[in-house]
Amino acid sequence: MDTNKTFIKLENVSYMYDPEEHPDVKAIDGVSLTVNEGEFLAIVGPNGSGKSTLSKLFNGLLTPTEGDVWVYDINTKDDDHITDIRRNVAMVFQNPDNQMVATIVEDDVAFGAENLGIEPAEIRKRIDESLEAVSMSAYAQRKLHQLSGGQKQRIAIAGVLAMKPRCIIFDESTAMLDPAGREDIIEIMHQLNREGVTIVFITHYMEEITDVDRIVILEKGKVIAEGVPIDIFNQVNMLHRARLDTPEIVWLCSLLRKGGLDIPAETLTGEQLVEALCRLK
Ligand code: ADP
Ligand code: MG
Repeated sequence: MDTNKTFIKLENVSYMYDPEEHPDVKAIDGVSLTVNEGEFLAIVGPNGSGKSTLSKLFNGLLTPTEGDVWVYDINTKDDDHITDIRRNVAMVFQNPDNQMVATIVEDDVAFGAENLGIEPAEIRKRIDESLEAVSMSAYAQRKLHQLSGGQKQRIAIAGVLAMKPRCIIFDESTAMLDPAGREDIIEIMHQLNREGVTIVFITHYMEEITDVDRIVILEKGKVIAEGVPIDIFNQVNMLHRARLDTPEIVWLCSLLRKGGLDIPAETLTGEQLVEALCRLK
């Protein structure tokens, strides 16, 4: 996958929720940023740093107070193309209950695609494929309220997949789930990314993003750091200032190094640490 092609581009974007009364209160403050085609980008930052505002700027749910957002060369302020942009840049939110519109699973999955005016035979095909992609085929006829939080989130993702977007933004979509549910959702994100879907993952669990392509750190509406995971995680002071946790493995590695063990700087996951330790034997 060519991840050098720009898909979404923000140029000097600021967003004020109340520009008349409070022009100095900027939820997003002078952000320039690109999301590349096919990449897996993570955005992290403390509560109130502007993550959700930024994600809504990506697909035109909000338009900038200052600056411009381009989605494959179309300005999100261009009303004529907004449906096209929303179809291609879809969102999965934190609470699956807020995204459910039907009672039966497959009706819910179909909803977005039906609104796009897609014909019934094609919708049937997409429902089946989308449920398969999130391992929920056996649940097509179930009632949504009988499902767990993690299962509902997978159904929300299936509904988004049925619209065949090129990019999916996950705004803290794992935050309300138990560890197993979180892992399932993250595995689905990676699988979709391998199939070519551009993924933007907003989270504050640092250990979930050790294997993404790029991390952007947001603080008070500004991008304060951007880079590959290894570069970000080794900026311990910056993470501390931004009130973000260092992943446990990174912290453990630093202790092991202090204890005299030769653990490579690029060790970010449990598997990598086990490998590094085995090599020391
Ligand atoms: P995050 O998702 O990182 O927690 P948000 O994008 O939700 O951050 O919020 C960024 C800032 O914008 C915060 O100061 C928040 O209080 C403010 N904000 C968010 N939504 C609204 C809104 N609908 N009206 C006014 N201010 C808002
Ligand atoms: Mg948020």
